[in-house]
Amino acid sequence: MGAMRLDGRAIAAEIQEGLAKDVADLRAGGVQPTLAVVLVGDDPASHSYVRGKMKVAEKLGIGSRDHLLPGFTSQKELLDLVARLNADPAVHGILVQLPLPGQIDERMVLEAIDPRKDVDGFHPFNLGSLLQGGTPMPPCTPAGCMELIRRAGVDLTGKEAVVVGRSEIVGKPVSIMLLAAHATVTICHSRTRDLAEVCRRADVLVVAVGRPRLITPDHVREGAVVIDVGVNRVGDKLVGDVDYAAVAEKAAAITPVPRGVGPMTITMLMKNTLTAARMASRP
Ligand code: NDP
Repeated sequence: MGAMRLDGRAIAAEIQEGLAKDVADLRAGGVQPTLAVVLVGDDPASHSYVRGKMKVAEKLGIGSRDHLLPGFTSQKELLDLVARLNADPAVHGILVQLPLPGQIDERMVLEAIDPRKDVDGFHPFNLGSLLQGGTPMPPCTPAGCMELIRRAGVDLTGKEAVVVGRSEIVGKPVSIMLLAAHATVTICHSRTRDLAEVCRRADVLVVAVGRPRLITPDHVREGAVVIDVGVNRVGDKLVGDVDYAAVAEKAAAITPVPRGVGPMTITMLMKNTLTAARMASRP
């Protein structure tokens, strides 16, 4: 059959065009949307993610400030920085790049961020709001997945959605969003008995595990929409959790890796930064 390729990069570019206009409007009104990015340590992957985010911010006219701290930074120093950024009216969004070094309690740092500046959407207040029917600051990767599903033309009402992975940053929140969109949702994880059988129920399959090519055609129903969140380095290549070439023969639509969910995640981060700037500038 040959699936429709859900080109995250192209869709992200389209959304970013709209965001750039919104940024220009805000700036014309005297508000410079600004994102503060905090990075602790010198993990090359984290540095590359942060560079990617700042590049897109710049392209859209969003101001960005980077706070690059040494790996030995103490919890108190990091909390002090978060407090300063919380109090700074020129900063609308605060992103603390994860993972943090072992001496720092990640949860405590995320909880210290003002929920109104929590552009990653990981603060318990925002996750709680998501559970209670919606938040202006949804977590970025799940929001990106939902946008891709919408763009695939899927009406989720009454559909079977299966999510593989139950992490707090992807699996759990995307499950809640699918539920809010009226899908019948099943969440799988490492203890799921017969993963392939459960996945084959899916009209929409979202995979966020971190195992290269875990999902094969055996897991996929003919005509399903498949969203592959996984990013795995195999040799010098990035691959997803889904065996793209084989599954594309069976699916109706599928996201590639790279250039699928990744660019959507960054775009949703920018959208949240704009939302935060708008909320802060309202009287
Ligand atoms: P986590 O490691 O936090 O969670 C992985 C989940 O997969 C867990 O719930 C785990 O189950 C489950 N799992 C592990 N092995 C299996 C298995 N064999 N069968 C079924 N389920 C299994 O990962 P994240 O959610 O943080 O990330 C998942 C992937 O998505 C990674 O590759 C990551 O790099 C990528 N990612 C991509 C982003 C993007 O923007 N494109 C953003 C965020 C993540 P259990 O809970 O039982 O341990």
